[in-house]
Order: sequence, then C-alpha cells, then structure tokens
Amino acid sequence: MSEQDILCSFCGRRKDEVDILIAGATGHICNRCVEQAEAIVLEESSAKGGDATALDFTLRRPAEIKTYLDDFVIGQEAAKRTLSVAVYNHYKRLTHAPKEDANEVELDKSNVILVGETGTGKTLLAKTIARMLDVPFCIADATVLTEAGYVGEDVESVLSRLLQSADFDVDAAERGIVFIDEIDKIARKSDNPSITRDVSGEGVQQALLKLLEGTDVQVPPQGGRKHPEQKLITVNTTNILFICGGAFSGMEKIVARRLRKSTIGYATAGQVVEESEALAYVDPSDLKDFGLIPELIGRFPVLTALRPLKRDALRRILTEPKNALVRQYIKLFAMDDIALSFKADALDLVVKHAMERKLGARGLRGICEVILRNAMFDLPGSQTKKLEVTAAYAQGQIDAQYAAHAEELAQAPKAKAKASPKASPKNKAKAS
Ligand code: ADP
Repeated sequence: MSEQDILCSFCGRRKDEVDILIAGATGHICNRCVEQAEAIVLEESSAKGGDATALDFTLRRPAEIKTYLDDFVIGQEAAKRTLSVAVYNHYKRLTHAPKEDANEVELDKSNVILVGETGTGKTLLAKTIARMLDVPFCIADATVLTEAGYVGEDVESVLSRLLQSADFDVDAAERGIVFIDEIDKIARKSDNPSITRDVSGEGVQQALLKLLEGTDVQVPPQGGRKHPEQKLITVNTTNILFICGGAFSGMEKIVARRLRKSTIGYATAGQVVEESEALAYVDPSDLKDFGLIPELIGRFPVLTALRPLKRDALRRILTEPKNALVRQYIKLFAMDDIALSFKADALDLVVKHAMERKLGARGLRGICEVILRNAMFDLPGSQTKKLEVTAAYAQGQIDAQYAAHAEELAQAPKAKAKASPKASPKNKAKAS
C-alpha cells in the first residue's frame, strides 16, 4: 500500500490532505479528528458534571499537603500539620457543595490564625499553600484598614486585591486564599479608655466579620474607597479561605498566666525559649485577652503557633528550601556567567548575624545582600567568573558596610548641629 492510500479511519481524508496522521492498532486518525474528538469529550464531561464551580484541582490529602510544604518551609512541624488539615477540610467542603437536602451536614469554614514572631514563616506558609492549590492569593495588611467612613482602607479592599490577583475572574477569586497580616494590630485597645472611637481596632474587627461570615460583598475593583462612580463587583466569600498572621507580642505572658505559671518564673529563667514554649499552648481565650472580639475569634476555628527559628533552622533555610536564598543568589550570578559558591563557615557566619538581628529568617536576606552587594555591583561584565564566599570574605564585607554606616552616623549629628553646608561634601568624599 502506498503512502497515498493511507486514510484517516474517522473522516476518510488521505495522508496528503492532513497535517498529521497517527497510526493506531487497526487504523489511523488525523489531527483534525483528534481536535474534534477532544472538543466532544470536553463538552460531554462538562454536561455531565453540570457544576460550574467544580474545582479543577485535585484534592491532596493532609500528608501530601505537608510534604509539599516541607519543600519550602523549614521546621514549624505543628503549624504545617495544622494548616494541612485545615486546608484539606476547607477544600473538601468546597468539592462537596451542599445539596438541597435539609438534613445534610453543613461543613463550616476552617479559617486559620497563625501566631508567631516576625520572620518565622507565616506568610510563606499561606503563600505556599496557595501556590500548591493554584488558587488566587493575596496579602493584606490589617494595619491600613479602618472602619468604613474613616481615613484608611475599607475592609472590602482586601477582596479587591484578591480579585486583582485572579485577573478579575470572580469564580476563581471566590475560592482563593486571603492572608491578612498583622491581625494583632487591630486588637481592642482596652487599656486606653478613650472617648474617641476605636476605628482602626475593634471597628475593623467588626467590619471584618462581614467578610468572614460568607456573604455577598460589594467590592470596588480598584480598591481604596468606594467611589459612587466606581462599578462594584459582587464577590461571595463563603468559600474564600482566610488565613491571618500576627506576632501577638506579649502573648506568651498571657498564655503563661493562664497556664498558672508565674511570669516571674519565666523572667528569672531569663530564657526566651521558655516563653516561646508557652506560645505553643495558645488557645482562643488568649486571643480574647489580647483584645480580639469573641465574634471574630469564633470565625477562626483553627489556631496554631509558629516557633521562633533557632540556629540550625536558620542554617537549613539558607540552603534547603526549593527557592532557598543561596540557590537564588547562585542563579542570579549564573545569569552573568559567574560561578558563585559559599563555604560552610560563611553560611554559619550569616546565621550568627541573623540571630543577633532577631528578625527570624527575614534577617538572612539582609545580611546576604550586604555580603554580596559589592560583588553584585563589580562582577557583571568583569573578567572574574568565579566567587567563593568564605567567612573571612563575608565578615570583611560586613565590616566595611558597618564602618561606612558608623562614619555616616558619626558625621550626621555634627552636620545637623552645625547645619554647615560644608559638612556634606566632606562626608560624601569620605564615604566613597
Ligand atoms: P512572617 O512570619 O513575618 O510572615 P515570612 O513568612 O514573610 O515571615 O518570612 C520572611 C522570609 O523568611 C521569607 O523570605 C521566607 O522565605 C523566610 N522564611 C521564614 N520562615 C521560614 C521557614 N520556616 N522556612 C523557610 N523560609 C522561611
């Protein structure tokens, strides 16, 4: 049989009439028929499913979610486990949309509050979950929110961000994840009995309730205030997962008090570790004592604490996560054909400085920037194609940076006191 005689078994076209002819066990199929067949399959399956909100992601079990988180988040085992279960239950609830049956058990939402110092991975956890599920995600800052009608942003602006991250696909936004940072900053200011209204504290908590309870909310698409001329978009929040994070500074004392352990005992022990142990026992009543209103606490059934990161965790964070800092810098340098590497003692040094800064993992980045700043400035386009960062090199860069700062600081008061126009050019010359 010649090539010309081979036909598509579906439409009968000859090989030279089509682009591709795929051979099967007993016949052939052309590219056009494959495309048509695909369209039919899609049409049929959506007709059968019938549910426009059917989720297009596969539901992973809690252990799988945690394994995914492990690739990006170091330590924080308790928080990862709790969050994995919360997310699993939340999306299980979504995939089993309530039926008309009045006796059907309705599943509540599993909104989450993460309590932990700055730089312990609260935002990272929420962000990683959203990436895994491939759902729209946004970060909002509770401190900029105020009660409607006051200077600041209305709470609806939180959903504006979610809509923006979903490219204004309302269906997608309605099953997204919102991370509200610094939720502790809107605690009721009970120790400050002022006659003015608490518009950025309790007022915001009250306003947030509306978002959390799962209703239709009118959202200004561009955020900010609701302008009469701005067309509002209706977003239903029933299936949006809210994760809140906060440092809740001083919370360990509240927990410790509840645990009937003297806070003086903690103070004399003089160890931050002991206080952070107390944080692991945080419960909703502590949130109330901190100044969150019971109605708000009630809408966050899942509460978990993140531990302060210790030396070994910080060391692992530098190299182990999929997008670890060291890997990122290596990639950045590789884009300029420069082979960057770090000696182990240099990494230990970075960790040591980060511990001193007390900014959690957040401090690591700043120190790496200081160490590599000069190299990142000088090396691109130069003859140097290799940089091995040793502890000595790293410390040298840090010292040089501090020396420059110290000099600036030493000059600053003088310059201010004298307000002498001569001072500034002199300073500049010295700094450079
Ligand atoms: P916060 O708890 O203040 O929300 P982030 O999640 O924003 O802290 O973390 C700040 C930085 O530190 C991010 O770059 C993040 O990648 C890194 N980081 C913090 N905690 C961890 C962790 N447990 N594992 C890996 N990286 C972390």
